[in-house]
Amino acid sequence: MKPDEIVARKLNVNGIVQGVGFRPHIYQLARSHQLTGEIANTESGVFIHVEGRKENIERFCRSLPANLPPLARITDIAQASDAVRRLDIFSILPSTAGSSRSTLISPDVSICDDCLKELFDPADRRFRYPFINCTNCGPRYTIIDDIPYDRCHTSMKQFTMCGPCQTEYDDPENRRFHAQPNACPDCGPRAFLHGFDGALISCNNPVEQAGRYLKQGKIVAIKGLGGFHLSADALNTAAVERLRQRKRREEKPLAVMSPDLERILEYALVTPEEKALLTAFQRPIVLLRKKEPCLLSDAVSPRNAFIGAMLPYTPLHYLLLEQGFAALVMTSGNMSEEPIAIDNDEAFARLSGMADYFLVHNRPIYLRSDDSLVRHVAGADRVIRRSRGTVPVPVFLRRPQQPVLACGAELKNTVCLTSGDRAFLSQHIGDLENSATYDFFHMTIAHMKRILDITPQVLACDLHPDYLSTRYALEQAQAGMDLVQVQHHHAHIVSCMAENRIKGKLIGLAFDGTGYGADGAIWGGEFLIADETGFDRAGHLAYVPLPGGAAAIREPWRMAASYLYTVFGDSMRDLDLPLLREMDAKKLAFVQDMMAKGVNCPRTSSMGRLFDAVAAIIGIRYTVAYEGQAALELEMLADAGNREGYPFEWQSDGGGCQLLSRPIIQGVVRDMENRVSPAVISARFHRTVIDMAAALCRKIRQDSGLNRVALSGGVFQNALLLKGLIRQLSADRFTVFSHALVPANDGGISLGQAIFASGVKMM
Ligand code: ZN
Ligand code: ZN
Ligand code: FE
Repeated sequence: MKPDEIVARKLNVNGIVQGVGFRPHIYQLARSHQLTGEIANTESGVFIHVEGRKENIERFCRSLPANLPPLARITDIAQASDAVRRLDIFSILPSTAGSSRSTLISPDVSICDDCLKELFDPADRRFRYPFINCTNCGPRYTIIDDIPYDRCHTSMKQFTMCGPCQTEYDDPENRRFHAQPNACPDCGPRAFLHGFDGALISCNNPVEQAGRYLKQGKIVAIKGLGGFHLSADALNTAAVERLRQRKRREEKPLAVMSPDLERILEYALVTPEEKALLTAFQRPIVLLRKKEPCLLSDAVSPRNAFIGAMLPYTPLHYLLLEQGFAALVMTSGNMSEEPIAIDNDEAFARLSGMADYFLVHNRPIYLRSDDSLVRHVAGADRVIRRSRGTVPVPVFLRRPQQPVLACGAELKNTVCLTSGDRAFLSQHIGDLENSATYDFFHMTIAHMKRILDITPQVLACDLHPDYLSTRYALEQAQAGMDLVQVQHHHAHIVSCMAENRIKGKLIGLAFDGTGYGADGAIWGGEFLIADETGFDRAGHLAYVPLPGGAAAIREPWRMAASYLYTVFGDSMRDLDLPLLREMDAKKLAFVQDMMAKGVNCPRTSSMGRLFDAVAAIIGIRYTVAYEGQAALELEMLADAGNREGYPFEWQSDGGGCQLLSRPIIQGVVRDMENRVSPAVISARFHRTVIDMAAALCRKIRQDSGLNRVALSGGVFQNALLLKGLIRQLSADRFTVFSHALVPANDGGISLGQAIFASGVKMM
């Protein structure tokens, strides 16, 4: 090669490029293109210097973004020519102290195909080893307690690698080069079986023995990646019912895990999009339509047309499930509404009344992370719960932000930290209603600040004075931090805008259960004209009483009474409705009296409560066992016919349009009295909400000229509504934005809070 043919180039690559096998990948790519040079981790990514023939460098740069290691993600590449140094080889430079502090950390990843092959290969030294992993798979986020991401900062630090493991770890050409959780049966974590009382049960193969107990109908608590599951044979009704009873979870659906796709197809319908979701490395729980009749016990998801299913994601799961299970219930290891247990002793204490046996291991979990939950609706994968497999992958923003800590809402809480053009949403924390969840909230904030190396300068929280997340923010603010309070539904819309990387004014539809309104009422059926910095309320559902406040959320019959009273007054008693015949007359009279006197009846414009009211009026549910149950059953009941909606009307006043429920409720009641089937009424009601929302959007467009609509809030988890409204608005030539990466429910609130607060402080 003539000296003048050699050129050099430098590249700065940003994104998720550390701890994901990126450097060995580049090492091999450079060598395959006959290039020499070096690669090193930098503060925000990696630095690459390559030298060789110009055409080889061109080819190297072109193929760089393709065929990345599965966990890597490039956000940008900056290239420039560099001085030729006449290097003989391509080398991976060791990380220097401080060089990789603020790098992006990979989420926990399901076992890869290479490791799976080794797991079931009798000739492999890790044959049937439940903790096999490599650079492309295994635990990450849940085992880190500080940065940089090195073994000494993970829960693997107590395991010293044996000779063969260390050799793999040091070899850039090995799949386990710098794989921090690298381990084998000689040097790594082990599984153990314990009885219900926490006493160790000695046995040769704890995983196999646990499988035997499950087959006998026992309940086994299983330590996984982000916490404990409670498991039972999903075909055994007695076992599943016992699990429900012990966990005090009456009707909320339980997730199941099956060994492979073929087994899932035996009890659920799976579209190609759902198949892709099920097999993705994130391995979320995917909401699927059940086959009828269903192979699984009815107790798994009673009165529900859907089932949440997932494929195994750890080697231990594979070893357990290959013992001949079609499906195992895998529900989070906790008492209802408490955070999932992660520590062995904690599990023995907290789950002792629930589990007959414990299948544990001795690799500590530093940060709990529930299973993520996804549903494919209207052409996109919509995250309902964003946790294991996804966190802490950031949401990449339109522009850099101030470092903000947003504390989220009360239910389905998540927190959000921003840094530069990245927003780090925490994993699902849960409902901040008990001290255990509040502790988890504190812990997650401290943990994320540490491993992401972010020192927030601004705090954001909800307007609601009683949310624990608000109180936390107020306490922190007293210690001298700036605080910005964000209206709940505005935060929903800004969250949707942030995820879609859009700016400027648009029409925001925020439909949810409850959120504290700027006027002190409980909002939830909101049409906002909003941007990142503020909003006007262009319309909302007309206020009705919420009799008994929070009690009305658990008891949809109260909302039915509220709407019937609002529309019919005292003559509601004469209506021919099952609700009025079946409900305790004294209770009804009591609630009517409360409304007449205006006692303990906050006003609400909640869309979620309107769905509850209709569900109760048509007799499908008077009380609920979990949040959103009535609305969900109303959705599932709707027949597929092309139904006409009920009439609707609105009233304009100074504060925007009020949507009047009178004609809708009158229509529903008339249909009930005429013995129209609830399935048809449900379909007509959904159609009405779609028509009404689209009509008001058209009116707002006329007045404002705005042509873009953002949809957010928990009510948009309703697939019928989301699909129908997107279709209608698109037909009306609106540009529609909705959620996919970030939950539409209150799990997405913290993102909107963070963006708003950062904007306020930058102005
Ligand atoms: Zn692997
Ligand atoms: Zn080893
Ligand atoms: Fe909300």
